[in-house]
Order: sequence, then C-alpha cells, then structure tokens
Amino acid sequence: MRLLRPREVATSIFEIDFTKLYSEGKRAILFDLDNTLGGRRPHRLEPDVIALLEELTRIGFHIGILTNRRQANDPVIGHLAQDYPLLHRARKPSKKGFRSLLEKLGASPHQAVMIGDRLLTDIIGANRLGIYSIRILP
Ligand SMILES: [Mg+2]
Repeated sequence: MRLLRPREVATSIFEIDFTKLYSEGKRAILFDLDNTLGGRRPHRLEPDVIALLEELTRIGFHIGILTNRRQANDPVIGHLAQDYPLLHRARKPSKKGFRSLLEKLGASPHQAVMIGDRLLTDIIGANRLGIYSIRILP
C-alpha cells in the first residue's frame, strides 16, 4: 500500500541529506521522539542530537516535535519544548496534530518532512497529507 511506503529510509537521523532536502524546498522538519531523536524511552537527548537540531535551525529549517507520548512532565519533552514547538499526545496518524504543528512552523505540507520510525503513525500520517516521509529503520 502506497500510504505505508516512506519516501526515503535511513538507519539514523545522521544519515539523512538535509542539505538536499533544503535545496528541494523543504523548510520544516517534524521529528518523532521515541526511536527517532532518541532511543525507545530516552530520558535525555544525546549531545550529538541536540547539535544536529541546532545545525538544522542554522541551515534555515523550522523544527517541530510530534510525539504520541502522553506525559507533559517528561524531562526530555520539557527540554525540547523550551527550544522547539512540540506537540505531545499528537494521536498520530490523525491529521490534526500534523496540521497543528505545521501551522506553528508556518509551513505547508509540501514544504515539510516527517521523520519517524513507525509506519502506522509517522509514515501514514505524513503521506496522507502529502508531507515528505522519511522512516528511521528500527
Ligand atoms: Mg517513534
């Protein structure tokens, strides 16, 4: 099924060619949290992940975090939300969360990239809206 097929796959966020995405007109990046920016239940983000997010911001991307996690008091969520628009309890693949975050980032779906590990939430949700989808392989 086409909706389940990511436009790209990568083994980690560090393998993605963000410069190419920018040159293709992408301006917003929506990141999943668990198993994408961190491990299964990261309690903090690794310094190289923080550095990548800062580098992407310098390139000119607007960064947002879209997670189905429920706890707002999670330290990782609190930390990220200080610097980036973050939507928890996003209920991916519901279109509502994607749209709401895109609005905060000031980007249209065709300017956006969703990066996540789960086909049934991250990838389907992005594909249904025409957001470029990149799957991080487990
Ligand atoms: Mg995930």
